[in-house]
Amino acid sequence: MQLLHTEALVLRALDFGESDRIVRLLTPDRGRVTAIAKGAKRSQRRFPGTLDILNWLEVQIAPRRSAAGMVRLEHSRLKQAFEPLRAHTGRFAMSCYLIELLDRLAPEGGLPRDLTKLFTFAVDALTLIVRTKPDERLRTLLELRALAALGLCPEFRCCVRCGKEVETNGAVDFHVADGGLVCASCPRTADAPIAVHLGTLRLLEQSLHFEFSQLDRLVFQEHALREATLIVRRFEKFHLGVELRSDRFLREALQSESSKPFA
Ligand SMILES: [Zn+2]
Repeated sequence: MQLLHTEALVLRALDFGESDRIVRLLTPDRGRVTAIAKGAKRSQRRFPGTLDILNWLEVQIAPRRSAAGMVRLEHSRLKQAFEPLRAHTGRFAMSCYLIELLDRLAPEGGLPRDLTKLFTFAVDALTLIVRTKPDERLRTLLELRALAALGLCPEFRCCVRCGKEVETNGAVDFHVADGGLVCASCPRTADAPIAVHLGTLRLLEQSLHFEFSQLDRLVFQEHALREATLIVRRFEKFHLGVELRSDRFLREALQSESSKPFA
């Protein structure tokens, strides 16, 4: 049988039965896949300490799916374990949140270009968390970049109803369900908009085009960060439909982090 050789990021992992392990992987070829590693708990040769969350792997997969929708993971080799993420509560919480978000929203299959972009985002994001103070700003920027990589980015520049570019010095209406800002000329709808400054939306739009490694240099004034956080969080919840399990862990970790100096 032809094996697929690819890379993968481990989004979830759990023991199964006596000796197997089931992993959810994000790959640049197939998007999100669920794989079973037969005999993983016995075989250090085929899966040498690799099947834990956040690990970046090279894998060999037998791509035909079982009746349970799983593929068989035949071999894996560790490329990077992102160790600094595990040794620091704030960074670990942020990484867990991010991979849970991807586990919920990443597609199973799709265009190679989109899947590669999503995988590259995931690796870049973990690399950025390793060397950046985990705070609300980083969380918001990463959530937005995650939504963009998933093809779910809101519209920040033009009215989502009439398509005109919005220019104003005051506040604008952002409609979560419509996917972006709505200009003053377009009719109101029943759902309550979020009033935000256009400057905040410009900053968020700008952050989408920033070189990933430079993202942590983007400066937000306090009110802009408050607005940006509100918009991105509401928009993300709208697509998720549920609160992520790691949300509370991340909130608590960031709270305790904000009282400490950067280390
Ligand atoms: Zn309009």
